[in-house]
Amino acid sequence: MIAPTYDVAIVGGGIVGAACAYECVQRALRVAVIEQDVIGGGATAAGMGHIVTMDDSDAQFALTRYSQTLWQQLRPELPANVEYEQCGTIWVAADEDEMNEVLRKHDYYTRNGVPAEVLSSADLEGLEPNLRKGLAGGLLVLEDGVLYPPCAARYLIECALAKGATLYSASTVSQIGRGRVYFSNGSSLSAAVIVNAAGAWAPALTPGIEVKKRKGHLVITDRYPRFVRHPLVELGYLKSSHSLTADSVAFNVQPRRTGQILIGSSRQFGAERKEVDREIMRRMLQRAQSYLPGLSETSAIRVWTGFRAATPDKLPLIGPWPADSTVYLATGHEGLGITTSLATAKLIADQITGNRSAIPAEPYLPSRIRTPEHANA
Ligand SMILES: Cc1cc2nc3c(=O)[nH]c(=O)nc-3n(C[C@H](O)[C@H](O)[C@H](O)COP(=O)(O)OP(=O)(O)OC[C@H]3O[C@@H](n4cnc5c(N)ncnc54)[C@H](O)[C@@H]3O)c2cc1C
Repeated sequence: MIAPTYDVAIVGGGIVGAACAYECVQRALRVAVIEQDVIGGGATAAGMGHIVTMDDSDAQFALTRYSQTLWQQLRPELPANVEYEQCGTIWVAADEDEMNEVLRKHDYYTRNGVPAEVLSSADLEGLEPNLRKGLAGGLLVLEDGVLYPPCAARYLIECALAKGATLYSASTVSQIGRGRVYFSNGSSLSAAVIVNAAGAWAPALTPGIEVKKRKGHLVITDRYPRFVRHPLVELGYLKSSHSLTADSVAFNVQPRRTGQILIGSSRQFGAERKEVDREIMRRMLQRAQSYLPGLSETSAIRVWTGFRAATPDKLPLIGPWPADSTVYLATGHEGLGITTSLATAKLIADQITGNRSAIPAEPYLPSRIRTPEHANA
């Protein structure tokens, strides 16, 4: 038997693949990263970069909170172009029903050690004077933050390369399995473990996984420093991100260090083309203006789209793929992959090296999803 060239070959140089490479080299593994395009150019370039603790389920909470603490630990070494700011999130409640959700969320977060403050209508107006008047209040989650995802991915890859990882750039993988990575140019390499971190394209390499593209639009404005001071998200966002069928838009804006305002967001299934959908964008901007009327006076300078990788149970697929013991999955992060990339990488590296993880890995294991391809595996 010839020993494999690499301990780990990672397909995909988005934030998830980059984080996996960063973590695997810390464990002294021989790592290859294969990227068909530029590092951080897929969904990672399209994302908002909100590092956010979420509590749709205990498993989602555990992964987002763990990863957020990992980002906080990494923060002192991040270069300035990653633009990490711990500015908190304000969940905006429009009415008393949504205020009840604020109270529920506040209770959950504080019970689980996440600093959060309930805001009255007046508090909200004081913190964010450009919001429309008469909103019921909100929840300020203090340790949430924002960063610039493509530079974060590039930094993680550069660290991995400095520690001996090999980057195969402009290289498209056509097939993976049984310890081999096959390139579209006919060559191949061997690795003990292959991590499929190809984001929304992961099913092309691992047929049978239920990951669907979920399209999103974002708009960025010219510079309007302090027009908004925190990431602002309507509580209705939770309903829109939960829907697995309908197209939806929600108020979700973010201040950037440059003074620009990033405006989101939309969710669409079955929209496979990357072109901007004017109707969705119109609905998204209308929603944002209904919360921030002054936005109508600002100039947008760029609009783009990206594809989230969505799973049916809204949790990512992290760990070994039951149909092939050499293949691991690190995909399906939907709208939280920037946040959860570092925790994903820790779980993957722990599984490869046989270490115990800081949080239970079971909720994210691909084996939870039984498909015909591996029903007998
Ligand atoms: C509009 C929008 C807003 C978002 N906002 C946030 C947010 O605020 N916070 C948050 O946490 N998340 C957010 N997300 C989600 C986040 O962007 C993704 O979950 C994350 O970027 C996924 O990273 P990834 O590395 O898995 O995938 P990607 O970044 O898509 O990387 C996959 C890489 O694999 C490469 N690849 C694919 N197939 C092959 C192949 N055959 N051979 C070689 N290379 C291949 C691709 O070129 C790509 O570079 C948002 C997403 C969108 C679309």
